[in-house]
Amino acid sequence: MIRLNNIHKSYEVGNNKLHVLKGIDLEIENGEFVSIMGSSGSGKSTLLNILGMLDNYDEGSYYLNNKLISNMSEKKAALLRNDMVGFVFQSFNLISFKNAMENVALPLYYKGVKRKKRNMLAMEYLEKLGLKEWAEHMPNELSGGQKQRIAIARALISKPKVIFADEPTGALDTSTSYEVMEIMKEINGDGITVILVTHEHDIASMTRKIIRLKDGRIHEIIRNGNLNEFRHTYMKELETA
Ligand code: ADP
Ligand code: MG
Repeated sequence: MIRLNNIHKSYEVGNNKLHVLKGIDLEIENGEFVSIMGSSGSGKSTLLNILGMLDNYDEGSYYLNNKLISNMSEKKAALLRNDMVGFVFQSFNLISFKNAMENVALPLYYKGVKRKKRNMLAMEYLEKLGLKEWAEHMPNELSGGQKQRIAIARALISKPKVIFADEPTGALDTSTSYEVMEIMKEINGDGITVILVTHEHDIASMTRKIIRLKDGRIHEIIRNGNLNEFRHTYMKELETA
């Protein structure tokens, strides 16, 4: 479903070039549950944004569903995004002047779905996430965990093939983080590919595959089953860091 070959990405910072991704090769199959780990500034968000067609890359190739994603117009990228992917962010990115239901319904507005139908569908997704009673509430009346569940409902409503989540638990306390990860697991159980970024090792260890970024490259890929080994090497690296 996802194939990256030798992806490079730099940012211009003043007169300098900051080389963030230095040749990423990666394959992710349909239905995988993957986390991308790495220290702050290691390029996790940059990689996720490229995967989610929110940003361009400089070199290499990216195939999503066997389609080359490169130099697309913003319009074309937006269409593909609407069809294929859902996003979840650390800071929820809800629209403050719309209520929970309207926030969830928003992607359908961009698809031209009529108000009545999109609100009905939004209610279905709110119910799935246990938030039906909160439909009329504004984001500032909701807890962090509730906001993230609204954001997840919004990501799901256009029936994406992939969910990209950038530090979805980064603003949540531990138990709420685990609830959100439980939801991610269920989403993946429904056949949706889930790719999330985290710098927390316990969150990463709840996924089936961990991709570790270091110095702009993939440092290692750990599959579920080898997680104990992962904990071991990871803790050791922390100790020696
Ligand atoms: P992570 O998500 O792992 O913390 P990022 O992908 O956000 O890392 O950033 C990687 C590096 O690129 C950081 O040094 C960051 O400051 C820099 N960076 C990210 N986005 C931009 C940008 N739009 N312009 C310039 N530098 C950027
Ligand atoms: Mg980031």
